[in-house]
Amino acid sequence: MHADSSPRYRGRFAPSPTGPLHLGSLIAALASYLDARHNGGTWLVRMEDLDPPREEKGAADLILASLRHHGLHWDEPVLYQSQRGPAYTAALAVLAAGGHLFSCDCTRALLGPDGSCRGDCRRRQQQLAAPSATRVAVPPDCLIRFNDRIQGCVESKLGVAVPDFVVKRKDGLHAYQLAVVVDDAWQGVDHIVRGSDLLDSTARQVFLQQLLGYPTPRYSHVPVITDSAGQKYSKQNHAPALDDRRASANLRTALAFLHQQAPPEALAATAAILDFASRHWLPANIPAALSIAADMNRP
Ligand code: GLU
Repeated sequence: MHADSSPRYRGRFAPSPTGPLHLGSLIAALASYLDARHNGGTWLVRMEDLDPPREEKGAADLILASLRHHGLHWDEPVLYQSQRGPAYTAALAVLAAGGHLFSCDCTRALLGPDGSCRGDCRRRQQQLAAPSATRVAVPPDCLIRFNDRIQGCVESKLGVAVPDFVVKRKDGLHAYQLAVVVDDAWQGVDHIVRGSDLLDSTARQVFLQQLLGYPTPRYSHVPVITDSAGQKYSKQNHAPALDDRRASANLRTALAFLHQQAPPEALAATAAILDFASRHWLPANIPAALSIAADMNRP
């Protein structure tokens, strides 16, 4: 874990390199950047490249170039999750020593609708067919509560909703839920501003933080942008890549979506727009909604 636990602000944007930056991901990047800058904090970028089958070649570099074009400059070297295997293995060893893990060889058809193990894997630990996934068991009475700065008080009966979840996949890859928790703690991230599509994951992450003895960061989940069919903007839904030549206009669109004061028209450069926006940053103006349709804010 990070050695320095003094109060400060460390935020981050943590894209998965599954495709180029689109308006939805720019909104998450911008919100975390402005919140960090407004609070005189440090802003990090972490590349969540731990799932090669889902990644697109060259996307990580395209995302970083796009952030730079938009004036979103990070303060420390980019951390690549593909380099962090030993840290995840060490965290798994801590969880195993605490008796929290079990192996599971259920096929997809055997899993419950919530993705939990429905077989008798826990009883058959010595006779499992390889390969198997590693799961963390959630006690049935586990209740997770946190106060989201935008969405308000969130309470999850995690033990009922998610009896167990994967921390290392059958194919040997570490799961997002584990990696994100290990890296946020190691990087000393104490403020997480990200899209509301990850709100569901947060209770699982707080649970892992508690098991691993990590502090829980402050969370802010901004609404995600949806297309006219109500689908989240994502690569899967063919969200168009941002045009980096229109960086200033893209920033203005993203600010409007976050219900922030529009920078004066005279400000043309991205640096000037970002400087204005960080000085006038008002997270209380961000709607406490999980999603907003894109065309509502389209100029
Ligand atoms: N890498 C995740 C994604 O792109 C985000 C992780 C996070 O912000 O916690 O959806």
